[in-house]
Amino acid sequence: MTTIIREIREQFNPANPAECIGQVELLTVDETKAIVASAHQAYREWKNKSSVARGEILRVLADLLEEEIDLVAETASREMGKTKNEMIGEVKRGASILRYYAQEGMRATGEILPSANEDKILYTKRVPLGVIAAITPWNFPVAIPLWKIAPALVYGNTVVWKPSIEAALTGKLLGELFERAGFPKHVVNVVQGRGLNVGQVLLEAPEVKAITFTGSNGVGQSILNTAGSTNKKIQLELGGKNAAIILADADLKSAAKLTIEGAMKQTGQRCTATSRVYIEQTIYDEVLALLIEETKKIEVGVTMGPVVSRGQYENILAAIEKAKSEGAELIFGGEPAFNETQGYYIQPTIFKNVTHEMAIAREEVFGPVLAVVKVKDYEEAIQLSNDSEFGLSASIYTKNIQKAFDFIKRSEVGLVQVNDETGGAEPQAPFGGVKNSSTGAREQGQAAKEFFTTMKTVTINT
Ligand code: NAP
Repeated sequence: MTTIIREIREQFNPANPAECIGQVELLTVDETKAIVASAHQAYREWKNKSSVARGEILRVLADLLEEEIDLVAETASREMGKTKNEMIGEVKRGASILRYYAQEGMRATGEILPSANEDKILYTKRVPLGVIAAITPWNFPVAIPLWKIAPALVYGNTVVWKPSIEAALTGKLLGELFERAGFPKHVVNVVQGRGLNVGQVLLEAPEVKAITFTGSNGVGQSILNTAGSTNKKIQLELGGKNAAIILADADLKSAAKLTIEGAMKQTGQRCTATSRVYIEQTIYDEVLALLIEETKKIEVGVTMGPVVSRGQYENILAAIEKAKSEGAELIFGGEPAFNETQGYYIQPTIFKNVTHEMAIAREEVFGPVLAVVKVKDYEEAIQLSNDSEFGLSASIYTKNIQKAFDFIKRSEVGLVQVNDETGGAEPQAPFGGVKNSSTGAREQGQAAKEFFTTMKTVTINT
């Protein structure tokens, strides 16, 4: 008998980097291949189960997740730094995603079509794809995996899921809940390991029919390089540089509050975080004062957690230094909040007088940093906000209905908000972007069906 030697990964608390909070065993490449093969086997039976029955197991999983909300929230919070309150919100969101797709199992997926020949019955039927590989980031360690896994399963696919190594303990815990919910063996599989080995196996495995990925643009590109020329379906949810526009007629207090929430919530580590704000010149100074007033309400270490890791901490501090060196004017924060041994905390940071050429106006920071740009008018704001390689989410704050509709029409993003913060959408609504923010079908809602199924057209000659 051969002994398998697995790498052990220790997880540390970003709020207290000396504290080891647990360990996970990472799978070898061969073990991962064997799991993919087992998921392929399990697909034969799972695809024949009724979608109502598949949905029922998702409903049980939703109940279990709610029962274990404290444990899941605490584990994820200690592992990746989001505050416990933020994590509780995310776990609730995860449960509502599961309930939405549990119900989806009771909805017809095909269409009856009229035939030119009255003796024929013509209809379409949605069929699953096979084994789905889901590869996810650390920043929403519960909601993002569930909004991929739940639709994949309810439509009859089996899943091999690779959580981010930064959220491996949360992944392990969810794996235990999948087992307790009663999914048949190998219908949903958690594979722990690094992207470069375990992740790579999923990209190359012939049994994998579709890859759903959320993460950085660099890794997204390498997925396209590896699997783009195969016949695997690919869905990539990538980065963002989300803009908000505040016009002179807006409710300025509310706009400032929502802009700061959009920028600083979850320590700015959201693909939909507001990271640049365009303010009309006539209200510029007034709004700056309001942004500062709102930011002062944040209590680092209480209402704002640390960033996920030392690597991320260094990247964000380097982006802040670069903004200073390019001439952006620091008006709030800009420093580590405490000594590094006390956790990877960074002060909420605001730069004013940012120009369009500066990196801070163009590149994703993925941290609590907001770039403020003064604009002449709405026209300049919409042009600058659209001049970006990204197109995920954008907001406008105004009471002018014409400008609001013009923004909805012209804004080059997948998620548009009027008088609301940049952000995601409820489980029934499609989620995704344009340009370099997304590739492939939208996630969530009915849109998920496009990605996780294919169609059969049926003709019956009566
Ligand atoms: P990441 O570094 O791209 O990693 C994402 C996942 O890909 C991880 O599980 C990672 O594994 C895996 N991976 C890395 N290299 C791989 C490879 N060669 N082959 C296969 N898998 C590989 O992203 P992250 O740092 O976790 O997350 C932050 C990024 O995600 C940001 O850019 C953010 O904008 C983006 N994001 C986008 C959305 C959206 O919906 N648009 C939502 C959330 C986050 P390991 O890290 O475990 O090795």
